[in-house]
Amino acid sequence: MRKAFKYKLYPTRQQEAAMLTMLETHRRLYNRALAERKDAWEQERRSVSYVDQSAQLKIERTTNPYLALTNFSSCQATLRRLDKAFQAFFRRVKAGETAGYPRFKGRNRFATVDFPGYRNGCKLDGDRMYFQHVGRVRIKLHRPIEGTIKTVSFTRQADGWHVVFSCDLGDVHAAPHPGPLAGLDLGLKAFLVTSDGESIKPPKFYRKAEKALRRAQRRVSRRQKGSKRRAKAVQILAKAHLHITNQRRDFHHKTARKLVTQYGAIAHEELNIKGIARTRLAKSTYDVGWGQFLNILHSKAEEAGCVVIPVPAKNTTQACSACEALPETPKTLKDRVHRCTNCGYEADRDLNAALNIKRLGSSRQALTSSVDAVV
Ligand SMILES: [Zn+2]
Repeated sequence: MRKAFKYKLYPTRQQEAAMLTMLETHRRLYNRALAERKDAWEQERRSVSYVDQSAQLKIERTTNPYLALTNFSSCQATLRRLDKAFQAFFRRVKAGETAGYPRFKGRNRFATVDFPGYRNGCKLDGDRMYFQHVGRVRIKLHRPIEGTIKTVSFTRQADGWHVVFSCDLGDVHAAPHPGPLAGLDLGLKAFLVTSDGESIKPPKFYRKAEKALRRAQRRVSRRQKGSKRRAKAVQILAKAHLHITNQRRDFHHKTARKLVTQYGAIAHEELNIKGIARTRLAKSTYDVGWGQFLNILHSKAEEAGCVVIPVPAKNTTQACSACEALPETPKTLKDRVHRCTNCGYEADRDLNAALNIKRLGSSRQALTSSVDAVV
């Protein structure tokens, strides 16, 4: 299992200048490689591969003094990042979705340099983190690193520089958790409702932070473009965004930890975020960040020996959790209570959905365990 560990870096002024230059070199490399792919396709219907671009990089490094001041593998990682963007683009096109062509990265849109191999241009040495062509940067190891370091990256954020280690923790065979099965309904009114009727509210800090965000946004728009005061306001806005991101992730971690200790198996609906986002709820959908929450839930569950079962979301809101009948007139978003015309069962709308999800999870669980038994 892989796990990421993130720490703050404190570069000297000189080291910071080297890191900024390196980011800029990588950004230009990315944009140049993107332009090459675009031109080749538009002018000659020819596609350029990662292998082509990597071979070319090797030659370019002998003549380009900026590229010479970077780690070769890290440049390859940047080209691979572009390759991934293209693969995702082609995948979306194939699936018939509206796909945005990979974009050129603006000055503030490129913040990370990856080092795909540990000890290849990067090495941890006590309270210093060595990066090739930068030097030994002070690092604050506020918690121990676990496992074997596989990849390293440094990244620039509104609150300064960070290093992220992706570590291999080996095979984590956690003992199966004896706890019960729960169904989760991810909602907007409550962040989630469990099949036991527990409702976890969306965190309050978000509303507060949102106010601060709007204030920061207004400050930016009031100030003159290109001015120093505006640059300062932009910096404050970026910090406000980062603060929300951190708080939201924190909330997701805490909620997931609580659930995996409480339950032995958790069923949740498969998310079709795009489907939801098409409605006018779009903004709040992205705000609560269910995708991130489910990722965290899955990885925490793996560590805790808890089983997570995604189930299809179809009819989980409409069907009656007591008799499985579908209503004659489907519920709208306004209907907060489930009232079954078939069996008379009444329950909170979200609780009814969570119970349906639990039932689907339970039948999947039975299915997989019988398959195990046959094998
Ligand atoms: Zn019913």
